Amino acid sequence: MELSKRQQQIVEIVKNNGPITGEHIAERLSLTRATLRPDLAILTMSGILEARPRVGYYYSGKPKNKLIADQLKQYIVKDYASHPVVVKSEMTIYDAICTIFLEDVSTLFVINNDGDFMGVCSRKDLLRASMIGEDIHTMPVNIIMTRMPNLHFVLEDERVIHAANLMIEKEIDSLPIVTKKENGKYEVKGRVSKTTISKIFVSLFNE
Ligand code: ADP
Repeated sequence: MELSKRQQQIVEIVKNNGPITGEHIAERLSLTRATLRPDLAILTMSGILEARPRVGYYYSGKPKNKLIADQLKQYIVKDYASHPVVVKSEMTIYDAICTIFLEDVSTLFVINNDGDFMGVCSRKDLLRASMIGEDIHTMPVNIIMTRMPNLHFVLEDERVIHAANLMIEKEIDSLPIVTKKENGKYEVKGRVSKTTISKIFVSLFNE
């Protein structure tokens, strides 16, 4: 977040004189309290200044990257979920390749006839099967997919930062967002990918 010249002046005044009331900040800038109100609101909402009733404003002392980290920690995966591309486990490798092209995704999530999450099939899994000469027109994806207990996923209320860490640690491009079913299995509700993380990163510059 880029601070305006006046906001920078306010931060300096509060840094050197805090805690200080809004009235006193206004006096030092030869402005009215009302004129400063939007600036003070921005500075407190962004966490740069803190306000205590009857005491005044003081500088939070948090470095900018800590403020961004504090904000990012609030993000929950379900608020950033994208559409998951889900296929049945008996789909042929050929059809899975067509689906991955048509849907323009890097990973398919595989389910059984009850809708239980069974596996993940990525571009490279499909490429590998094609390269080693499998009969891609008859062989189903469940033969080549990554399956339980090796699947990584996140629950709807988990944090975006947890998903990002998991993708880096496991060296994978995306994660299904799941809910637990009554039968103890998981249902795929959404998808979070490295693209999701890039979009969030870019959005921070547009706020
Ligand atoms: P690719 O290498 O095809 O670009 P990934 O890096 O996502 O795509 O996948 C690498 C390997 O990890 C593949 O074998 C894939 O099946 C597996 N994989 C991808 N996503 C997951 C996941 N969420 N859980 C477990 N394994 C996964």
